[in-house]
Amino acid sequence: MGTASQKTASDAATVTAVTGGRLIDGNGGNVLRNPVVLIAGKRIKEIGEAGNVKIPAGAEVIDAKGCTLMPGLIDGHVHVAAYNVVSFNNYRIAMYEVSPQLQSFYTLFHAQLCFEMGFTTLRDMGRNNAWANFATELCAVRDAINAGIVPGPRLLVSGRIMTTGSHHDMNLPRAAYRHPGYTVDGPWAVRTAAREHIRTGVDIIKVCVTGGASADEEGDTRNLTQEELDAAADEAHGFHKPVAAHCWTALSHRMCVKAGVDTIEHMVFTDDESTKIVQEAGIPVSPTLLHRTDRAIEVRKRMGSPLNVLKKMREVQPRCYESFKRMHQAGVKIFMGTDIQYDPEMGSNAAELELYTSLGMSPMESIMTATRNAAQAMRIDADTGTLEAGKFADLIAVDGDPLHDITVLQDRDKIRLVMKEGKPYVNKLGAAPLYVLHPQPGERKMFE
Ligand SMILES: [Zn+2]
Repeated sequence: MGTASQKTASDAATVTAVTGGRLIDGNGGNVLRNPVVLIAGKRIKEIGEAGNVKIPAGAEVIDAKGCTLMPGLIDGHVHVAAYNVVSFNNYRIAMYEVSPQLQSFYTLFHAQLCFEMGFTTLRDMGRNNAWANFATELCAVRDAINAGIVPGPRLLVSGRIMTTGSHHDMNLPRAAYRHPGYTVDGPWAVRTAAREHIRTGVDIIKVCVTGGASADEEGDTRNLTQEELDAAADEAHGFHKPVAAHCWTALSHRMCVKAGVDTIEHMVFTDDESTKIVQEAGIPVSPTLLHRTDRAIEVRKRMGSPLNVLKKMREVQPRCYESFKRMHQAGVKIFMGTDIQYDPEMGSNAAELELYTSLGMSPMESIMTATRNAAQAMRIDADTGTLEAGKFADLIAVDGDPLHDITVLQDRDKIRLVMKEGKPYVNKLGAAPLYVLHPQPGERKMFE
């Protein structure tokens, strides 16, 4: 989190008090009624019930009357550099018509759409197209946000290691030209790729242990040898970087436990044994169910996904839901990840939480996947993920009670305040509303 943690002169200068109807701290504890959150600079100074917290004279008061205050949400698996349905009519055409330079602007725009909906942190799992791996562009967007020259969420970005024929490689058509070095094979080539990404400045190394649903590849195939996976994990860890592993099979779960990866991405095929070893190893898993829904499949169809991909998406849907239930019941650490990319709309991330509740989680557990659990999985829990004294004031105010109706988090009008590190970026509570983006219908062109 680099410079973000350094105290500056302005930290001491500003004191803000946010008040509301109730507070969910992200730790799963009791709801606090009539809360006051006192913020000094970027961090939370004190939290308590109104009357028990002294608001200093001269403090700015943001009154989120009746609203629920909660931690800024975290989506642990997104692809903001993807050709999303809100920006592109056909992603397959966009892949060949849009330069990485132009796509960088969309990357920021997509991140801002999520930010506006209360997602103050996004972990991006990378992108590649016929031009290249998008690691440099993602780092640039992250750094522009961190430098304060554009508003946006905190981004943690991935560099992809692509072995030949792997899921990421198959994002491109079989016959598309690949630059030399586009894919790497063998432990030493994998190490070089990891080092190159780390030199670029990524936060995470992403690997595909199995196939997926990009093209006519098979999702249950193995993409890496154990030796290659071990090399990726060892190299990343040598540089103190975590490894995120795309996995569709029970075999890949066993391989990940052996290699010591840091997070497992997706819930597709599982068995009781693989679930048990993941649970025992304590590796957090992101479900990414939102892009398995019927609606997501419809969106994909409209955006140009080939029929065989749609067929595969339909086939795996029930398996994914089943795996979620199995992992939840087994006590696997679950953190929210949507896999938002082509589908569904950037900013609709919180619909993932509704799915979790429909598959057996309580609303509180579901909220924790996008707060404390996500921060822990990303190892940023010393700074964010819960509302506690000492942590960053990453805080949102929602008009409604998500413990009674989790869908309030999906309603743009109900997200009244979005604060990151003590600074409001969305504030619809005052007389002059503040927005990150406020596009009106028809104002923006879709890319044809
Ligand atoms: Zn993904």
